[in-house]
Amino acid sequence: MAFKKKFAPRRKFCRFCADADLPLDYKRPDILRDYITERGKIIARRITGTCAKHQRLLSTEIKRARQMALLFYTAGHSSDVKKKSNI
Ligand SMILES: [Zn+2]
Repeated sequence: MAFKKKFAPRRKFCRFCADADLPLDYKRPDILRDYITERGKIIARRITGTCAKHQRLLSTEIKRARQMALLFYTAGHSSDVKKKSNI
């Protein structure tokens, strides 16, 4: 089932504190996706309302998820993968 919610609700609160059952895990990119922008950037804590503790865990899990290719590093919609030849 699709749970599409691009923005956090008006009330800011840490979803992970509020819902202990909500897994903060790289294996759940559907949840992590709420905390990254469309371009794959991690959304600042002051915007999502995530507490410091969970934000730190979140960023770790997001980075992990990226490595597992569960999340995209950059805009995933455009299949225009730039090949950097001059690294
Ligand atoms: Zn929290």
